[in-house]
Amino acid sequence: MWYYEKLFPDVKLGLEGKIIYKKKSSYQNIVIYQTPRLGRILFLDDTIQTTEKDNFVYHEMLTHPLLLSHPSPKKILVIGAGDGGVLKEVLKHDVEKVYLVEIDREVIEVSKKYLKSICGKSFNDKRVETIIDDGAKFVQNKEEKFDIVIVDSPDPMGVAKVLFSQKFYQDIFSLLNEDGMMIRQTGSSILQPKELRENYNRIKKIFPKITPMVAACPTYIIGFFTFLIACKGKTPLNIPFEDLNRKYQQKKLRTKYYNPEIHFASFSLPNYIKGGIEE
Ligand code: SAM
Repeated sequence: MWYYEKLFPDVKLGLEGKIIYKKKSSYQNIVIYQTPRLGRILFLDDTIQTTEKDNFVYHEMLTHPLLLSHPSPKKILVIGAGDGGVLKEVLKHDVEKVYLVEIDREVIEVSKKYLKSICGKSFNDKRVETIIDDGAKFVQNKEEKFDIVIVDSPDPMGVAKVLFSQKFYQDIFSLLNEDGMMIRQTGSSILQPKELRENYNRIKKIFPKITPMVAACPTYIIGFFTFLIACKGKTPLNIPFEDLNRKYQQKKLRTKYYNPEIHFASFSLPNYIKGGIEE
């Protein structure tokens, strides 16, 4: 059979394969689709979330630029990320505690069963606390402080919409320590340019430093995929290459996309992206 991503009304990515799991949770339609070329794929409401073949690009770039450049990342908050891919990357670092706040328990259970190559045993790591909640609620009036917040949400629709709001970013700013950093995905540079621009201009009102970053995420189709990094203190661009490289080598990070050269290169933006950010 053929299954089509339906994120866009006028652009579809079709893939041949077979559905091996399909269920409507209280939040969304969850499908695991088995394909010969990309392995297993998690679809939520007919939108590709992650594939066994290429998830490493996105999960590594959502994690290592911050975890390697922050001076002492001990307490990490991950919002969304129910497939466990970001969690697996974060746990490669000597963090003390990781909270993962995912609204839909089903996504975690399905990922643990069908996407072991993505999440591994990360949900069972003793440093991890998994909380089933709306991320936007969890961050409100939080006493607890964090070093890094990673927002691994779907696109701004349905229950994920609140994870793109000014209030959400304000609450994250409040719960971050003085040298805290946040990263979030902001969509395809070609098909969703508004997502980067709107969130850049929302976050810029709250954080003193904001840095766009790009990566080539093949199944988040058409063009560079974009991210925004917001910092209270130093940014991932402030760490000298030698220090970053030493940390990368010492940690023996097993990465397939990220490396110290890519770290710095990912902040060099093509003109069509750089020029389209400021309102
Ligand atoms: N990498 C994907 C992307 O860029 O679109 C996202 C993957 S991950 C599976 C997204 C997760 O965010 C889903 O499991 C979804 O249930 C969760 N989610 C959506 N809205 C949420 C909210 N308000 N609070 C917490 N988790 C949420």
